[in-house]
Amino acid sequence: MNILVRISCCLVLFTVPSCNRATPATPSISPHQINQISVINALMLGQYDGVMPVREMLRYGDFGLGTLDHLDGELVILDGSAYQVRGDGQISVVPLDHTTPFAVLTRFATDGKFPCPDVGSLVELESHLNEALMQRNNFHAIRIDGQFPSITLRSVHRQEPPFRPLSEVAKSQSVWTRTHVSGTLVGILSPTWVTGISVPGFHWHFLSDDRQIGGHVLDCTTREGRVRYTVCTTWQVRLPDSEAFNRLELGKDLSKELNEVESARAK
Ligand SMILES: [Zn+2]
Repeated sequence: MNILVRISCCLVLFTVPSCNRATPATPSISPHQINQISVINALMLGQYDGVMPVREMLRYGDFGLGTLDHLDGELVILDGSAYQVRGDGQISVVPLDHTTPFAVLTRFATDGKFPCPDVGSLVELESHLNEALMQRNNFHAIRIDGQFPSITLRSVHRQEPPFRPLSEVAKSQSVWTRTHVSGTLVGILSPTWVTGISVPGFHWHFLSDDRQIGGHVLDCTTREGRVRYTVCTTWQVRLPDSEAFNRLELGKDLSKELNEVESARAK
């Protein structure tokens, strides 16, 4: 594993050893560290080939989100298990030899907690959280357990090469709303300055307590929830070293397209 760049004390970039090489050494995971596999612009440009087995990914954390090889649904990492929410909404535990092209995860520890206000929308929830979480230039992993009178979720369908950009694929995403669900919001709040590398702002995935309902969250209302969060002051990015990854023009500004992909509801 080569250390490519070390920027100040908070961003460390590594290359991801190819999946078929010898088992990598135990990763160095500091407390309060956000660990990321690949960069969001690679996913935006259609780099959907998995670059790290889930078995290895789970050594970097027990809480987080992402997607799976061939963009095969939404990935939810909760309490140390990885769940796949397919494009048809079906949920299963991900086999450890499956791979991910993009994931963000951490070892969850509770730095703070407070009751979740009952809200009528995700925008309202995020506004409350923005007031409560003051460390705007650090990362937060946010876990909200509670009741969801209404929750609107989406997932994407497995793609086959040649891969189209995510903004095109997202047009055929599945969106569904469920009512009276008990479950957990799995959130990553990234600083605004991560543009191109990760998803700026809030990114939420969801899993119901019975593991029957999940996906990328587009909207929700909440009741009787409790918020727990971890503040992350170190950011580790594992970069693929594949030819395909190195052909990508990752410096493009794709923030407008990303915003549409993350929040698009109309189908
Ligand atoms: Zn997502």
